[in-house]
Amino acid sequence: MTQPTFDIDCTRCPRLASFLIDVKKDFPKYHARPVEPFGVANPKLLIVGLAPGKHGANATGRPFTGDHAGIILYETLYKFGFSNKPESVSRSDGLKLKQCRITNAVKCLPPENKPIGSEIKNCNAFLAAELAGLKKNTSLLVLGGVAHNSVLSALDLKKKDYPFGHGKKYKLPNGLVLFTSYHCSRYNTQTKRLTEASFHKVFKTIRKHIDS
Ligand code: SF4
Repeated sequence: MTQPTFDIDCTRCPRLASFLIDVKKDFPKYHARPVEPFGVANPKLLIVGLAPGKHGANATGRPFTGDHAGIILYETLYKFGFSNKPESVSRSDGLKLKQCRITNAVKCLPPENKPIGSEIKNCNAFLAAELAGLKKNTSLLVLGGVAHNSVLSALDLKKKDYPFGHGKKYKLPNGLVLFTSYHCSRYNTQTKRLTEASFHKVFKTIRKHIDS
């Protein structure tokens, strides 16, 4: 059987499945299930984040939507022509991505935003299936080290050959092109580890690659 790219009923990680049940009790209106990738089916750019945020994607059911992490991401996507609106509010807000798709390395909310190794490994099968469906020359943007390592692991590549850092670009053996950025979390933007200018610089390079 072909490995799917997503399963809304997945409970492969017992700790996360039980955590989601508890979160749903505290916040009955929250999505509190695995969060489906969002965007076009055959993207020129696939963005890979870490995991849903408790009051963001976990609440709304759309990646990077409802909390701070999505603000700079969706504004930037709009600025560089990857969407029809600069804001993502809910799954029914009319936002449409262009040429772009967003997913997470781990599809369920982890306690303290920290998935453990076995959870990253379990969810890697979905990511690997997503990556296997991409056309050659597709751009991949990883947000943060966990997403970076998850992509390398899904593609059976060695970390030492593709070290993580902000603003790197790697041509991968399977024809995909990997771009890297610090994660656009509240912590990284407030501490200026990631600035609007440094995030835009990454997207400028991606846009140039896609348009060339
Ligand atoms: S994190 Fe991924 S593998 Fe684990 S339960 Fe959620 S969807 Fe399944």
